[in-house]
Amino acid sequence: MKGRVFKSTGSWYTVKVNDQFVECRLRGKLRLDDEKVTNPIAVGDWVSIIMDNEKEGIIQEVLPRENYIIRKSTRKKKHSHRIAANIDQAVLVVTLVAPRTSLGFIDRFLVACESFRIPAILAFNKADLLDEEALNYYQELKFDYEELGYQCLLVSAVSNEGIELLKEKLTGKTTLFSGHSGVGKSTLLNLLSPQISQRVGEISDAVGKGVHTTTFAEMFEVWNNTYVIDTPGIKELGLWNIGDEELSHYFPEMRKYIGACRFHNCTHIHEPGCAFREAMEEGKIAPFRYENYLSMLADDDNRR
Ligand code: GDP
Ligand code: ZN
Repeated sequence: MKGRVFKSTGSWYTVKVNDQFVECRLRGKLRLDDEKVTNPIAVGDWVSIIMDNEKEGIIQEVLPRENYIIRKSTRKKKHSHRIAANIDQAVLVVTLVAPRTSLGFIDRFLVACESFRIPAILAFNKADLLDEEALNYYQELKFDYEELGYQCLLVSAVSNEGIELLKEKLTGKTTLFSGHSGVGKSTLLNLLSPQISQRVGEISDAVGKGVHTTTFAEMFEVWNNTYVIDTPGIKELGLWNIGDEELSHYFPEMRKYIGACRFHNCTHIHEPGCAFREAMEEGKIAPFRYENYLSMLADDDNRR
């Protein structure tokens, strides 16, 4: 039988098979598949199972993944931990006020999504709090980000602005739902699907008390065929194994210049004949993105 993993505790996996949740263990051999990864199976994985007894199953095999997100293991250095798999898109909830999400944080998230091959959408929440100046700023950011392929939505969990559009974007997909605390992620999830909000709240409480560490994720079916993956203990998606020359590949505006610079491995800092910096000087590229690129490049500890 084929099913999908909704929750993992490390030893037990909740797998949805034919509209029923089955608690499963792993077939012993699966644990050994990749010794550098601390968990062989993650939330979102498709698996094949057999029943062990009337209630419990055994996972026999994990089916090939479309993609997955991974981070350094908190327990075993040099090991990695898969957080979730088979993600269609990521929605990053951000705010321009109360609190203001930094563009550095947004860009790191977007680079992580690019490196994991996950399309990203930015949901600017708390639209009800924006004055004219802030709305103009939103329009500028929307212009810059959408040119790069990241759709921006203006939403409010208070006035309901943009909520229908956000629902449309989620429908039929598996979405990783992220954001700094305080941006209104739980309030939005509650609006989208009241029946899951209580469970999300419970998880957040547990995380606050340190019961679960950074590796916790759970998937919810918010409505028919529509899934949201919540990662309450994870503040930031994190960059994973990205070398200096590789970083620019995860900036869509820089990717365009691969092959145009004099040096094929140009990092666009000081190399002569840099086509990207020429384009910068012509005003074709948002300067804040370049600044964030430079700070990610300098911060190589967080990329390895
Ligand atoms: P989380 O930490 O991202 O899950 O944030 P919460 O959902 O707990 O929300 C943080 C605070 O922002 C709460 O006081 C919410 O009532 C408030 N909030 C959430 N969404 C909105 C919104 O669209 N507009 C306004 N004005 N406040 C909001
Ligand atoms: Zn260059």
